[in-house]
Amino acid sequence: MAETKSADRGQVILPGAVIGVLGGGQLGRMTAMAGARLGYRVHTYCPDRDSPASHVSWHNTVAAYDNRTALKAFAESVDVVTFEFENIPSATTEYLAALKPTRPKPQVLYLTQERLREKRFLASINVPTTRFLDVGRQEALEAAVKALGRPAILKSAEFGYDGKGQVRIDGDIDLFEAWVKMGGDVGILEAFVDFAREISVIVARGPDGATAIYQPVENQHKNHILDTTIVPARVSETVVSRAEAIARHIAQEIDLVGLLAVEMFVTHENDVLVNELAPRPHNSGHWTIDGAITSQFEQFVRAVCGLTLGSTERHSDAVMKNLIGDEVNGWRELLGDPGVKLHLYGKAEARPGRKMGHYTRLSPKNAARNGDDRR
Ligand code: AMP
Repeated sequence: MAETKSADRGQVILPGAVIGVLGGGQLGRMTAMAGARLGYRVHTYCPDRDSPASHVSWHNTVAAYDNRTALKAFAESVDVVTFEFENIPSATTEYLAALKPTRPKPQVLYLTQERLREKRFLASINVPTTRFLDVGRQEALEAAVKALGRPAILKSAEFGYDGKGQVRIDGDIDLFEAWVKMGGDVGILEAFVDFAREISVIVARGPDGATAIYQPVENQHKNHILDTTIVPARVSETVVSRAEAIARHIAQEIDLVGLLAVEMFVTHENDVLVNELAPRPHNSGHWTIDGAITSQFEQFVRAVCGLTLGSTERHSDAVMKNLIGDEVNGWRELLGDPGVKLHLYGKAEARPGRKMGHYTRLSPKNAARNGDDRR
């Protein structure tokens, strides 16, 4: 994607200004709350009525992402534009970027919207990833599976998140069925990584190039959806510095302004392979609300507005657990637990696989050592 017309001159957006957020999920909701604490007003733009972010936003636009009239009015009412999820059409962010500073810039979103594009880019800047092959059509799958071996994971190249559009190719699974189940037009086949741990790193970068990084955390998934984050990650110092160097390198190479979450696999040999990028706040950073000096959402606001970045220091160790689907029904017990901070997203319907809230259990910093099994 070529550089397009941009209204961004590196302006600092001062408290009192309006931050426009594309997307209305829980990430937007928690961003709006953090923005309000710093004196900003958030205008949410989301196609859905009654979105989680709309409950706490100063203003809401409910309109489709390709509605030019609504986009124009939105741009006129905000001072800076950002986004809280990836599946926004490029044409939308490009249109807005010509009118108001849009951070991260549309090229960053474009790069991370498609898995093949993202992985090729990472290879071009010497960042190690899982081995992968482009599977442009169903007929190419058999040869790709032969080349990478089983098990492998077939993923749709576009519009996949939280395990949607992913199929494990194992044993004697029928490849045609796997292709249909994956549900995409274009696929990417990845070698299965028998990882020791999954970790992620969140890095913030401002318009002046200043960066701040949160230490690696450890993520445990269920059905390809994040279930639990353990802070700090139980990995060696070598892995910590490798992971942080990778995250900083990517942030610089993509000329990030905002937040970038880098999901990684740590192998049994302590190699660090990047799985996925998300140029926005991330579920694995929710612990920072209760366990760090500056939450990822406040940091996001600071970075996007060009303010000094906050301290990323954790004051407590933490375990964050997502409340998925009807797990949310346990909220009363959680409220009664003195060690727990509960966060509910205001979603009316607890559908299976839907993130309804999370809780964070704090413990004194460094009380537990690497190798134990906190959960
Ligand atoms: P993703 O949507 O790519 O983040 O995948 C969701 C989860 O599926 C990851 O966090 C892993 O737990 C698992 N997964 C994805 N790709 C692979 C892979 N190549 N090898 C092993 N596990 C994977």
